[in-house]
Amino acid sequence: ERKALEEVKGKESITADGRKLELAGNIGTPQDIEGLQKNDAEGVGLFRTEFIYMNRDSLPNEEEQFQAYKEVLEALNPKPVVIRTLDIGGDKKLSYLKIDEEMNPFLGYRAIRLCLKEKEIFKTQLRALLRASIYGNLKIMFPMISSLEELLEAKAVLNEVKTDLDKEGISYASNIEVGMMIEVPSAAIISDILAKHVDFFSIGTNDLIQYTCAVDRMNEKIDHLYQPFNPGVLRLIKMVIDHGHQEGIWVGMCGEMAGDKRMIPILLGMGLDEFSMSPSSILPARKLIQTLTFNKTQELVEKVLSMGTADEIEEYLKNTIK
Ligand code: PEP
Ligand code: MG
Repeated sequence: ERKALEEVKGKESITADGRKLELAGNIGTPQDIEGLQKNDAEGVGLFRTEFIYMNRDSLPNEEEQFQAYKEVLEALNPKPVVIRTLDIGGDKKLSYLKIDEEMNPFLGYRAIRLCLKEKEIFKTQLRALLRASIYGNLKIMFPMISSLEELLEAKAVLNEVKTDLDKEGISYASNIEVGMMIEVPSAAIISDILAKHVDFFSIGTNDLIQYTCAVDRMNEKIDHLYQPFNPGVLRLIKMVIDHGHQEGIWVGMCGEMAGDKRMIPILLGMGLDEFSMSPSSILPARKLIQTLTFNKTQELVEKVLSMGTADEIEEYLKNTIK
């Protein structure tokens, strides 16, 4: 098994009929670079920057952040590195940043909502990211966008920070792609419109499932209702991929679903371009993809999207993909 995986190292992630995909890794700190290299990641599809803010007693300053981003960008260069701006709140808390008690933290003050209110925190991170951009292939991604207004406001702050750097004579890469996560249903539903304003989408299924099915992802009592195979979730994912492609942008996925072997054939058939997962899942995913054909998985998608329950879909996939 291990040996079979060694064989796909250094190989492309390409289906038997020639569709080329990108298999990237999810990371939380520069210490994860080793795992990326060991598992032959083709890039970073999600750098969860909140870990740089956690387990300490004050905000990381611009210089500390700059060093962390630079380290990852340099190590991966010229491979793409998608760095997500701060996604704090919900299940992730900072001891030094007081957020009022909320009845529903996952529906509350988190991620981009917090960054657009606490502009200094947001701008410091964006300055560090822009400064680091000259050391590699940076793509900036905003989390938890739920409307066009939020996306445009986040982009406006990024442009303000660029103007500040211009005035100070500080350089940054000129070709930085800007993207957003699709993890809120309202964003998925207007993804045809949002796609006109970004360079890429990355689907965050951990939250998208939670919000689409109205199931708290931390509540064990209802975890049977947290369904990756839910037909509503799958239809939404297909819609987002189609909308992205209609507007000519690439669409990736960085939620747990992207590394799930049962799901990969479906996501491939839907046309997903980039799969970002825990680094240890990359080689098994590549091996699986080499055995699949894009053609057959497209037929599979059509079949599955006509089904009415998660159980039926899961059962069908189990019996069809061996
Ligand atoms: C997601 O929601 O799918 C995601 C990748 O983000 P996080 O798990 O950090 O919320
Ligand atoms: Mg999320």
